Amino acid sequence: MNLFRPNIQRLEGYVPGEQPQEDGWVKLNTNENPYPPSPRVREAILAAASGRLNVYPDPLGTEFRRRAARLLELDPDWILPANGSDESLTILMRTFVDPGETIAFPYPSYILYETLADIQGARHERLRLNEDWSWNFEAAVPVIERAKIVFVPNPNSPSGNLWPENELCRLLPPHGLLVLDQAYIDFADPSADVKLLQADGGDQIVVTRTLSKSYSLAGIRFGFAVAHPDLIAGMRKVKDSYNCDTLSLAAACAALDDQEWMHENVRRIQATRSRLTEALRARGFTVPDSRANFVWATRPEADHERIYEELKRRRILVRYMPFPEAGPQGDRTVDGLRITVGTDEQIDRFLQALDQVL
Ligand SMILES: *Cc1c(COP(=O)(O)O)cnc(C)c1O
Repeated sequence: MNLFRPNIQRLEGYVPGEQPQEDGWVKLNTNENPYPPSPRVREAILAAASGRLNVYPDPLGTEFRRRAARLLELDPDWILPANGSDESLTILMRTFVDPGETIAFPYPSYILYETLADIQGARHERLRLNEDWSWNFEAAVPVIERAKIVFVPNPNSPSGNLWPENELCRLLPPHGLLVLDQAYIDFADPSADVKLLQADGGDQIVVTRTLSKSYSLAGIRFGFAVAHPDLIAGMRKVKDSYNCDTLSLAAACAALDDQEWMHENVRRIQATRSRLTEALRARGFTVPDSRANFVWATRPEADHERIYEELKRRRILVRYMPFPEAGPQGDRTVDGLRITVGTDEQIDRFLQALDQVL
């Protein structure tokens, strides 16, 4: 007996990067921050844990919204806390996209958008990027015109490039939403783009952010959406009542309170990112300038999957990513290695191993 909805039956399911559960790995595959979160986070979690865990958390996350609003210079009703950015994306899909409607996203980029669309029974269309990660607007415009949501990670993954504001504006669907997935924005320009929300057309834009990367809190599961209060109010009807728990709300507030800690780690990662980029280019890799906490490395004629496997044998995990039917014509597989910027020591170990492998 097959009881599945047909679209779930067909679904392959999103496959996240490997998470080995034992020590001893140099883990450069899922863009985690190699540095610990602010010590204030631990204190806040401990304090919250000795508080009232028998009662439900604040369903609105009022304290967190206040802090995020202050940081972004908006009112708290522009903020919707979530159980990670991925939950924000799920809420967006469930709030705005009917089965059969179309969502679009650049390709190659974050493949979860496609999976979420499949779960919802929506159609998805890939906006195929040019070789140099620029937009092919001519091909994209007709798709954008019928899209209910256009999802754009900015900086993009796996390439790390940041698209400028004037290009983002051209991606706004006339009868839909533009979702700017800013998971990596703190590594580029944290002041960017929430400005767009208050400009013309801003009531059709949603920004999503996460504490997983720049704030070193991937283990906590916390993100938030930023949008016009009317959009946030609709999304609030869709989310689980208690989507963020007491401990993660406390942790998120403490993390936002320690901006200096986050920025210090970002500065370190940016410095290591330059070094890693240069080192890879010196070894013959093509590496686009990254504004995120990872780099995308390809080498003509190289067997990227073999390099990934040989590194893995040496207990170094990077992400091998193949994107079939890519390129402007959709006629070739774009593949390469996405390497998270770790500590300097991790990057040294990676480079040593790479030299053995090449
Ligand atoms: C990491 C990542 C997310 C997910 O963030 P979480 O808050 O950990 O769910 C969303 N979008 C992109 C592009 C990412 O790389």
